[in-house]
Amino acid sequence: MKFSQLANILEKLEGTTKRLEITAILADLVNNLQEDEVDLGVYLSLGYLQSEFESEKFNIAEKMMKKILASAFDKTAEQIDILFSKSGDLGSVAAGLASKQKGFDVSIKKVYKMLTEIAQVEGAGSQEKKITKTASLLSDANKLSAKYLVRIILGTTRLGFTELTVIEALVAFLNGGEKNKNLKEKVESKYRIHPDIGLIAKKIKQKGIDGIADIQMEVGVPVHAQKAQRLSSPEEIVEKMGEVWGEYKFDGTRVQLHMDRNKKMKVESFEQQDLFGEDTQTIFVKTFTRNLEETTHQYPDLIEGALNQIDADSIILDGEAIGYNKDTGEFLPFQETIQRKRKYGIAQATKDIPLKYMVFDILYLNGKSLVTKPLVERRKLLSEVVKKGNVIVVDENIQTKDSVKLAKYSKEALEKGLEGIMIKKIDSPYEAGARNFSWVKLKKSEEQILSDTVDCVVFGYYHGRGARAHFGIGGFLVGIWDEKSTKFKTITKVGSGLTDEGWQKMKKKADEISTDTKPTNADIDKKYNCDVWVKPEIVVEI
Ligand code: ATP
Repeated sequence: MKFSQLANILEKLEGTTKRLEITAILADLVNNLQEDEVDLGVYLSLGYLQSEFESEKFNIAEKMMKKILASAFDKTAEQIDILFSKSGDLGSVAAGLASKQKGFDVSIKKVYKMLTEIAQVEGAGSQEKKITKTASLLSDANKLSAKYLVRIILGTTRLGFTELTVIEALVAFLNGGEKNKNLKEKVESKYRIHPDIGLIAKKIKQKGIDGIADIQMEVGVPVHAQKAQRLSSPEEIVEKMGEVWGEYKFDGTRVQLHMDRNKKMKVESFEQQDLFGEDTQTIFVKTFTRNLEETTHQYPDLIEGALNQIDADSIILDGEAIGYNKDTGEFLPFQETIQRKRKYGIAQATKDIPLKYMVFDILYLNGKSLVTKPLVERRKLLSEVVKKGNVIVVDENIQTKDSVKLAKYSKEALEKGLEGIMIKKIDSPYEAGARNFSWVKLKKSEEQILSDTVDCVVFGYYHGRGARAHFGIGGFLVGIWDEKSTKFKTITKVGSGLTDEGWQKMKKKADEISTDTKPTNADIDKKYNCDVWVKPEIVVEI
């Protein structure tokens, strides 16, 4: 398939918000792509180059893209700025500039190769090389190809569908355009343990549903994390779940650790080179977040801990990394642990905020998936393979059907300054990606009316009146992502709770990413229209 044909399909997808229509268009896309390009077509329509967890980043931001467009279409920086100020989207700017170019006879495969080359440029003079390569690609592209190439490179494709919609499209492709619960469950369960939607699409295109049978859990491929439901009291918990397993709930950051002693990996960051020496090959250890993002470079200490303390050839562990005070040994609040999330200064951060990795599950051991084994068995194996040491800790737990014991345990956790407890069904398998009553969280705040904080995304702000008017911001509008409609929905206007400094910071951040129009993938009633719209990128905890 030609890239320009794919761009036409992406334009069709942009033109609709109807789930069924999107699914049908995607199913048609899978149908029309060749076997050896279906994975590439799927990745590109989702706006990335490889599976979510290993995708190359282009490292090209708006500012650089403006230079690229000026160079590709022979315009001045000012001309590009004027065009950009009208639409707020460099994809549309590129489409306008390329509108006279007819035809763009290049295949998806070839474009994909060029995009990969652009993403992989590194070393001295890499910025200039990126600019030249990208400008040369765009200067040949026709209108819609230019529009979507720019968006893919900037990471702003967002066509209102996710990998889960692609799964529905694959089912429709397999089943003559119809839904099918059984097929969907089969595909989705593979996606949860091996979230590479391109690979899944390719296998299905090649061999139908049987094609995915050989996709298995693999060290280096993050598994979708199991999540917890809430219940408000120990009594309710025992009534609903029967005999349970209680664990302390640590308020740090979720870390999935993968190790394979028979596999090697390239050491990339300086911090890792510090740790492992100049030798660029080391034993394969990687860490991932709950959102499948690779974070290995942040945790040289966890890697060292894994190499020292894990008595296994290959393993996948699930747990919470939490910072502690090196003098008192006490755990640190979440806000401090999260400072370990950084690109630079990692060696120092490792000293300032040392971590304990509190592992609570084992998903894979010595070449075999353990997810179907009951929790009690998994935990037994976990205790056997993790040796005592300074970094990785398999914490204690209780097993009970007595709500009084559970209440006491929860109280103890709170007294220790922890967030609460996690309660798990003793015989439950590890259900990748699920949020059901196999895992339940009991936090202090669950007993109150609004039981938790909510992470919201900012859509825009209002200039405001009165006392704060001189900051130029008096309130802002926030919302959350709605998985069902695959759109953002508004939650509330926020007009308090920030310090003066906080308001100024918020305005500065918002102004850096302001746009002329409201976000296209958000349902916002016009009575909440903001004075200044921003790209939905700032996340606040309400
Ligand atoms: P949610 O998981 O409901 O989206 P959230 O991100 O605020 O909300 P929490 O309310 O903190 O998550 O609850 C689940 C998280 O608790 C897990 O993702 C994990 O990071 C953390 N956690 C801490 N201790 C444990 C434990 N013993 N077992 C499982 N998860 C734990």
